[in-house]
Amino acid sequence: MSKFAGLSLILVLLCVVSVTSMAQSTSIIAIKAGRLIDPETGSASNNQLIIIEGERIKAVGANLTIPAGATIIDLSKLTVLPGLVDAHTHMALTYKEKPENNYYYLTYVMESTPLRAIQAASNGIQLLSSGFTVIRDVGNNALYADTALRQAIEQGWLPGPTVIPSGTIIGSTGGQFWPTPEMYKQHNNNFPEYIDADSPDEIVKAIRQNMLFGARTIKLCIDCKPWGYSVDDIKLAIKEAAKGGCKVEGHVQTADGAQRAIDAGIYIIGHGNALTPEHHRQMAEKGIFLAGTDTPFTKYRGTETAFKQTVANLRDAWEKKVPLTFSTDFDYWNERMKDDKTGEWLTRGQMTIAFLDTWKAAKIPARDILYALTINGYKAADVIKERGPIKPGLFADLIAVSGDPLTDIDALREVQFVMKNGMVFKKDGVMTPEKFFNPGPVRMPNGRWTR
Ligand SMILES: [Zn+2]
Repeated sequence: MSKFAGLSLILVLLCVVSVTSMAQSTSIIAIKAGRLIDPETGSASNNQLIIIEGERIKAVGANLTIPAGATIIDLSKLTVLPGLVDAHTHMALTYKEKPENNYYYLTYVMESTPLRAIQAASNGIQLLSSGFTVIRDVGNNALYADTALRQAIEQGWLPGPTVIPSGTIIGSTGGQFWPTPEMYKQHNNNFPEYIDADSPDEIVKAIRQNMLFGARTIKLCIDCKPWGYSVDDIKLAIKEAAKGGCKVEGHVQTADGAQRAIDAGIYIIGHGNALTPEHHRQMAEKGIFLAGTDTPFTKYRGTETAFKQTVANLRDAWEKKVPLTFSTDFDYWNERMKDDKTGEWLTRGQMTIAFLDTWKAAKIPARDILYALTINGYKAADVIKERGPIKPGLFADLIAVSGDPLTDIDALREVQFVMKNGMVFKKDGVMTPEKFFNPGPVRMPNGRWTR
């Protein structure tokens, strides 16, 4: 058998497998929604029916006929809305007080990529349980634990949000670390967390490497070092990333860096603390998304002074009409992370949605917070053509809560129901993810195997 005959046989087999898996997934579900929110318009309609066929939404409306044989899910006492987005987090990094003294420089030395990938899978499940169906996971994920998690979820090995991973963060020499000569030269330790890319050739190569290993977005350290990236460097990165369908986020921590990122026309700026009102004005004009990573002041994190500044910055960005996303930069754990009432540990999902505290302190209206948590999140993650809004043809990702998040955003803190890709993950406030776990067939989203 020639190589080519072998290849076509494999292709035929792959087609058969994908047809088979499609045939198995055409179950029909009818959801009775007491109230259905459209975050795009900030409006809600009562007594809607959502028909789901397999993984996708088939129809939405008040006067639909329930197809024969459909499984009916009664959410008539709840408010149904699209899933939530954290536009900047790190699922495969958890630095702790013990043993790392909150220093992630040590986490990456002490914890292997496989261990961190499993932590990421657990964090993904916790986030999905709190209603987060899309996550932008932007680096500090060991040696591609983030892209492996995306693949595992897409292939159907386990439940989790849709992951938009960046792969390894690309930075000019040193990234955010100060590696020793031994680490820097041999790259055995430093390499997993940052790719050092200084020259244009190195920038291009680093981006191609991340995309080859499964990145769906690219993250650059714009100004982590005094030698950072120039406007031309950033423009080059944007152009190269576009070849692989990726948008670029710039980690920004200085006013100069922010200006360079804006001048280059970057897609997302990560971290809002170095941005001035003038930067906000320019970002609004250019439509640059802000993933401000707006940490609230809680008993387990932050200070009052930092919080006041964060709130003021977020408020100014909102007033200037910057496209805001909800983002956390969550990557830590400590022993104060307990629920005041129950004394139980808080999940990564509960602590993620707790970032609402900052948005409320900035007095941003609930419907605008919801817009940031949904529509702008889908746009920043670049998934809005495929998933997000509850509209026919899109993947069936949706959640339900008691109360009305359009007037009381805190209603989002207790998610009762979660559906992802047409499968029920949580019902009556209890996770029921069994259906997500199976030994095969491996799901191939586009009908063929890709990384
Ligand atoms: Zn971050």
